[in-house]
Amino acid sequence: MSLSTRARMRPVLYPVGILAGFVLFLLVKSGVSPYSAGRPLLIALGVGLALPWLFGLLVGDRDRAGILAILVVMVLLAGQSALAAALLVGILAVLLAESWTGRAGARRIRWPLITRAMSAVTAILLVAIGILAVQNGGIVRIPRDLVAEASIGRLGSSATAATVAHPSVYLVLLDGYPRADKLGTEFGIDNEPFVQALQDRAFTVAATSRSNYQTTELTLASMFSGRVPSDPEADTATIRPFISDGEVIREFRDLAYEVVAFSSGFEGTALRGADRFVDSGQINEFEWELLQLSGLAPVLDIVAPTLLADQHRARVLATFETARTLASEPHEGSRLVFTHVLVPHSPQVFGSDGAPNEIRGIQVPFDDSDEYTILGPDEYDRQLAGQIAYLNGRVLELVDAIARADPNAVVVVFSDHGSGIREGVVTGGSDPDLRTANLLAVRCPGRQDIIDDRSTLVNLLPRILRAYTGSGPEDVPETIYGEPVDGKYVVFDRPD
Ligand SMILES: [Zn+2]
Repeated sequence: MSLSTRARMRPVLYPVGILAGFVLFLLVKSGVSPYSAGRPLLIALGVGLALPWLFGLLVGDRDRAGILAILVVMVLLAGQSALAAALLVGILAVLLAESWTGRAGARRIRWPLITRAMSAVTAILLVAIGILAVQNGGIVRIPRDLVAEASIGRLGSSATAATVAHPSVYLVLLDGYPRADKLGTEFGIDNEPFVQALQDRAFTVAATSRSNYQTTELTLASMFSGRVPSDPEADTATIRPFISDGEVIREFRDLAYEVVAFSSGFEGTALRGADRFVDSGQINEFEWELLQLSGLAPVLDIVAPTLLADQHRARVLATFETARTLASEPHEGSRLVFTHVLVPHSPQVFGSDGAPNEIRGIQVPFDDSDEYTILGPDEYDRQLAGQIAYLNGRVLELVDAIARADPNAVVVVFSDHGSGIREGVVTGGSDPDLRTANLLAVRCPGRQDIIDDRSTLVNLLPRILRAYTGSGPEDVPETIYGEPVDGKYVVFDRPD
């Protein structure tokens, strides 16, 4: 068979079905935005189609090319499992034995039959994923999110109502930034110079602020919606709309604000419903989970050991750069800009001068208590001090750029919760006293009454709206909730 005949041979489709099906299954199951799965899906389609075609060129037979392709797909998907590896070696041995014993005789393997069987199995798998999507609502949610979160067609939709220019509002979320007093008592870090630098820039800093919840998802849901799901342990798919399409954010849009949001790389907390959603393109949470599951994980640990930490660091830097550019860019009308960086939250990837802390492996500790255990108290304190020192400089740079470009801008520098290094006695989750002690600093030109020393986050945006636009949601109780226990939030009474 000539090479050109081989190139025209129709490749089998089940390898692409299995590979794309795997990505689709995780998308349906995880409830994240379909946009976060776009890149893996394209790669799955490309690799799944190319492999049978390439092996077809090599062996000149579509059926055996399909078997070789599915072997590679299996290595990609399940290379970490010893059982899968044993299975692969077995199949490969059969393939080799068959080619050595020749093609004649009754023992000849019927390859087309294998192709038909594999195609049938793949079709069943895809139908099963479809059934799962019907059962968990993905069949409705995924197409709806594809439309609602598309960046085309939203811009300008609200701009017509602009008659009075309201001040732009910049939210700078420094994930997991502990309150200044806790930095002192827990980690021996004196953060007073940063607090002073903010005050010098006309910020009010709440000395005993608290987050209303212990998790990023619930904090942002309550800030952006004024409410949270009734089920305290709601999954990503349930909680996402409270953040990506929250009522409080809609009030800003009704007042002709252009909403701009940055991707922190973590999909559960993404304000995907923004007019502009800025993603600097590093590996996102969905892709990270895919990599962790796949057979690529052990390979990456050898060929690109610091990939994950490097990607995380690059995203933080890109977010600060883009946020600064955005602040300086000329614009008409008011803006609500939500900048979210996953620092000083674990992992500690920056030294005090911004130099990279090398963290190896695909299992980067994104959990404070995990990293605390790995590093030990002294080294953790030292690294946290370094990361915060570097971060503080970047934050002041950004704040100065915003104020220079727009002296009337409202700027909120805050964290969604404090440190999670310690476990709570009652709830078993993070220690609520430490975990809810967050950073809250507000620069509100012409107003003094947005926050006080004991403010929480839930009424922050409504108060800004009412103070500057004359309308906005009413305050809700500033309750502080601990981790959910047995399906109920535990109310945490302030000790301070
Ligand atoms: Zn957080």
